[in-house]
Amino acid sequence: HFNFCSGPATLPTAVLERARDEMLDYQGRGLSVMEMSHRSDTFIDIAERAEADFRQLMGVPDNYSVLFMQGGATQQFACVPLNLLGAGGSGSYLDTGIWSQKALKEGRHLATASVAASAEDNGYTAAPAPRAILPASDAAYLHYCDNETIGGLQMDRVPEADLPLVCDMSSSILSKSVDVSKFGVIYAGAQKNIGPAGITVVIVRDDLLERARADTPTMLNWKAFADEGSMLNTPATYAWYLAGLVFDWLGEQGGVAAIERLNRRKAAKLYDAIDASGFYRNPIAAANRSLTNVPFVLHDASLNATFLEESEAAGLLTLKGHRSVGGMRASIYNAMPEEGVDRLVDFMGDFERRYG
Ligand code: PLP
Repeated sequence: HFNFCSGPATLPTAVLERARDEMLDYQGRGLSVMEMSHRSDTFIDIAERAEADFRQLMGVPDNYSVLFMQGGATQQFACVPLNLLGAGGSGSYLDTGIWSQKALKEGRHLATASVAASAEDNGYTAAPAPRAILPASDAAYLHYCDNETIGGLQMDRVPEADLPLVCDMSSSILSKSVDVSKFGVIYAGAQKNIGPAGITVVIVRDDLLERARADTPTMLNWKAFADEGSMLNTPATYAWYLAGLVFDWLGEQGGVAAIERLNRRKAAKLYDAIDASGFYRNPIAAANRSLTNVPFVLHDASLNATFLEESEAAGLLTLKGHRSVGGMRASIYNAMPEEGVDRLVDFMGDFERRYG
């Protein structure tokens, strides 16, 4: 079976097998990782190795902290204004779809926030032009979402601004190379390319750790997490361990540059198949098509239920689009083998021949 779920996403089979083999007795310790103290030498070693491997995969410079938090990317929507607006000012947001809007909404709930540029004018099919990006004069950061998981719109460049850039990379982290030094903050829920749900990775440039509002709850305070090695309280130990196994696996695949080449090939196969047919359609501008989330509609929506039934029966799972968009969506993160995309493309061609 191939699972095209947008998140929690499929994990590499090799990772699941290793976790299974180690589940009851981790490397002869007589315990599962789930049962270990987070303060034990064994777990500290697991945690530190995961962070070191992640830093190496992403090329995180030394003047950045890497935090392993909980609460998902949604919690970071609150952490961003709380941790960055201690000296006043406002948050500035690019609006490229549903996830950017959720971040903006939380910014407005907790502080002052405005839209620096929006893709609304083009129906969320293309990123705002660089010259259209106009942050408010008192903005203390520019927030954007690199890849809109639902709409399938991905930024084709890092926006330029004289402000710390804050990026939601939930659905694109580790799928392509990124120059971390261009960012103030990067955050991502784990459940796409990092591991199971339960962990949220935050990369923060250290000078930005001094800007929190005084009323920031300790559990939302980046500096508090940085000071305690993310062990302010009991972390999501098992999810952290599994993330470490995924980082190992990604290293074995050749790292981010190698997986990016594979991801580009996978995505090209799928978009080419969609574009070559008169039966399927993806509305996103070529430069902004997501590498990891490919939404598409059938020309005849009355065939949706049949498409989903038959694809499921063919072992191609969770292709139903998000409830707000309809149609289909194939999420093809790092752990989706090229064979899964080949099978999907074959199925789509066959379905079109029978119903087109
Ligand atoms: N941001 C993006 C781009 C996402 O894709 C998601 C979830 O799919 C979220 C934020 C919310 O993440 P979480 O469920 O970890 O809060």
